[in-house]
Amino acid sequence: DEPMVRVENLKKHFPIHEGVLQRRTGEVRAVDGVSFSIEQGETFGLVGESGSGKTTTGRSLLRLTEPTGGTIEIDGQNVVDLSDEELKRFRRNMQIVHQDPTSSLNPRHRVKTIIEAPLKIHGYGSADERLDRIEELLEMVDLPREFLYRYPGQLSGGQKQRVGIARAVALNPKFVVLDEPTSALDVSVQARIVDILEDIQEEYNITYLFITHDLSLLRNVADRIGVMYLGRLVETGDVGSVFETPEHPYSRALLSAISTVSEADEQLKPEQQPIEGEIPDPREKPSGCAFRSRCPYAFDACSGDEPPMYELGDDHDSRCYLHDDQYQEGPGW
Ligand code: SF4
Repeated sequence: DEPMVRVENLKKHFPIHEGVLQRRTGEVRAVDGVSFSIEQGETFGLVGESGSGKTTTGRSLLRLTEPTGGTIEIDGQNVVDLSDEELKRFRRNMQIVHQDPTSSLNPRHRVKTIIEAPLKIHGYGSADERLDRIEELLEMVDLPREFLYRYPGQLSGGQKQRVGIARAVALNPKFVVLDEPTSALDVSVQARIVDILEDIQEEYNITYLFITHDLSLLRNVADRIGVMYLGRLVETGDVGSVFETPEHPYSRALLSAISTVSEADEQLKPEQQPIEGEIPDPREKPSGCAFRSRCPYAFDACSGDEPPMYELGDDHDSRCYLHDDQYQEGPGW
C-alpha cells in the first residue's frame, strides 16, 4: 500500500537580506533535505527544539509556506505541482490545527460561523445540512450545542482549541497537521485534547503529523517519530524503539531531559545528562554533524562530512557516526 504522506528531500531555504541595500547575504536552511512517510491512519510525531524546522516542515507540507525543493505526495497527489486553483480544491484533504487557538479563531465570529467557513468554501450541502454537520462536530469535540452562538472570547483555551479541531476536521480531511496543538494549554486540559484527537482519528482514519517540542507527549500518541535538529531529521523510528533505545545522542539528550522532570523513567541511565548548550544559529550551522557543538560523544570524524542516516534495522534510523563500523574502535559508545 502507498503511504498517505510521502516526503522526499524537502527543503525550505529563506534568503537573508542585510544592510541598507538589502543585499542577499546568505540563506537560512530552515528545512534541509527532510524525508519521511506516514501510513494512512498513523500518527507521525515530529519533535525538536524551536528552530529545528519542525513547524516549517509541517507548513510546507500543506503549502502554507512554499517549499524550495523536494517532493510532497499526499494521497498519491504531488502537492508541490498543484496550481493555485487545484491547491484550493485539494485543501479539503489536508488541514492544520494551530498552536494558539486564540489567534487562530476570528474573535468577531461566532463558533457556528467559524466551523462553517470551510464547509461553505468547499460547497458542502445546504444551510440546514451544514448546521447538522456543525452540531455533529461539536458533539465530537465534546462541546454543548449552546456553544454554537458563543464568541471565542467567551471560551476557555481548551474549548477554543476544540473549536479549532472541529473546524479542521469538518470536511473529513485525510491528513491533518497538528502544530503543537496542546502547548498553549494548561497541562490539565492537554490530555483531554489528545483524547479527542485520538477519538477523531479512529472514527475517520485520519493521518496525523503531530509536531511538538515535548517528546514525552508523543509516547502515547505517535506510532512513529522523527527527531529534528537544525533542519534535518537525525533519528526516525517506531515510537517504542525510539523511547526504549534512542540511538542518536541528541534523542538521548532529549529523553534524559524528560527524565529529570518525570521520575517514572527509571530505565534511563544515570550518565545521561540533560541537554547542554544552545541550539546554534541556523545561519552558522557547524560543518559536519550539526549536533557536534553540543554532543558529548563528538570525535574527529564528526567535523568532516555530515553523517548519513544509518539503518539500524526495524525501521529505526539514526544520523550519527557512532553507528559506523569503521569507528567502532574509536570513541567508545
Ligand atoms: Fe555526536 Fe559525532 Fe554522532 Fe554527531 S556524529 S551526534 S557529533 S557522535
